Amino acid sequence: MPSKGFTTRNLHSDREDRPEHGVLHKPVHPSVAYGYEDARELAEVFQGKRKGYAYGRQANPTVAALQKRISEMEDGVGSIAFATGMAAVAAVTLTLLKAGDHMISSAFLFGNTNSYFRTLERLGIEVDFVDATRAAAVAEKLRDNTRLVFVETIANPGTQIADLEGIGELCRRQGLLYVVDNTLTTPHLFRPKTAGAGLVVNSLTKYIGGHGNALGGAVTDSGNFDWSGYPNILDIYRGGDANQWGLLQIRKKGLRDMGASLAPEAAHTLATGSESLPLRMDRSCANAMALAQLCASHPAVTRVYYPGLPEHPQHQRARELFRAFGALFSIDLRPGADCFDFLNSLEVVVSSSNLGDTRSLGIPVAHTIYFEMGPEWRKSMGVGDSMLRFSVGIEDQADLVADFSQALDRC
Ligand SMILES: *Cc1c(COP(=O)(O)O)cnc(C)c1O
Repeated sequence: MPSKGFTTRNLHSDREDRPEHGVLHKPVHPSVAYGYEDARELAEVFQGKRKGYAYGRQANPTVAALQKRISEMEDGVGSIAFATGMAAVAAVTLTLLKAGDHMISSAFLFGNTNSYFRTLERLGIEVDFVDATRAAAVAEKLRDNTRLVFVETIANPGTQIADLEGIGELCRRQGLLYVVDNTLTTPHLFRPKTAGAGLVVNSLTKYIGGHGNALGGAVTDSGNFDWSGYPNILDIYRGGDANQWGLLQIRKKGLRDMGASLAPEAAHTLATGSESLPLRMDRSCANAMALAQLCASHPAVTRVYYPGLPEHPQHQRARELFRAFGALFSIDLRPGADCFDFLNSLEVVVSSSNLGDTRSLGIPVAHTIYFEMGPEWRKSMGVGDSMLRFSVGIEDQADLVADFSQALDRC
């Protein structure tokens, strides 16, 4: 249904493959293995000559239905699902880079991605962390052995917005693989393909699944990147359509050999959750805007980090690129205010990690998700010691506004 809208296509995508009995949801297929009456067919499935399933670590029909939905959402040529978003990030980088390669990453990253990239450095892959809000900062670090550039759309918790188009243009000119983590915007607010991304990563755990009840991740090939010129594709994967070489190598070397496969039960939960993505996202973004504006006008708050506010350094960029400004914002309370007391005085907002849940969640970032890094490292990522991060849910806006108002007034 290429001419239909985002939500319509997502809701009806399972039916296009005519599932058994006319079921409206792709069933959960828990079987690990698949039997063939003719052993030659089994061999042909292994050799890629025939479509089919062999072993659950590599492919599963329920997971395949979710992958198809993600590809449609991102307008890509194919997707691979993983057990978590981190598994997707790890599979992309470990299978497409090798010792001696260089990559450039935004300094403003999800904490675990930042931590993981430092593991890559121990494996002999050089990583430069730059201020990705400026494409020039990426250009300054280019080397002969640079292979890949990695950015997030809106960074968590500081809400910096990468120069998505500028870096995309740079990568196109230099023939570099451009990987964009779209978790904070989701394909409903923004499609990284339009800015030149070659691969798009999504943590399905967050807004796409949307209910905080299943972990998952995905990588989508946008079709933008010319794999025939990429030196790290192994000879065995250089047959057939060059459009598929990258995903083929990620599937074989990443999913099959490393084994962080998405469970079919989780895939089903995530697929169901994804059906209401645009509704939830629109509502959460509107709620986040109302709360960010309230905080910005309150004396208890010294700074608000939210791309929807005109004073945000990349407000104009967000306005041009994104359908809305996202559902995550952070604040610094006035000096002397206790961030724990503030969180405790909120009644609706839950003190919790995670983001992209239907419920509003708040967390003191330096004391929790960025604790391990220490003050220096946090500073390099733009994370302040008193910063509070909020993932805004779909509650009634009046209740959220009332909750923040009373907590701010007490502060
Ligand atoms: C949560 C998150 C991830 C990792 O996803 P998991 O599913 O938790 O492994 C990656 N990138 C961003 C931006 C995230 O917010």
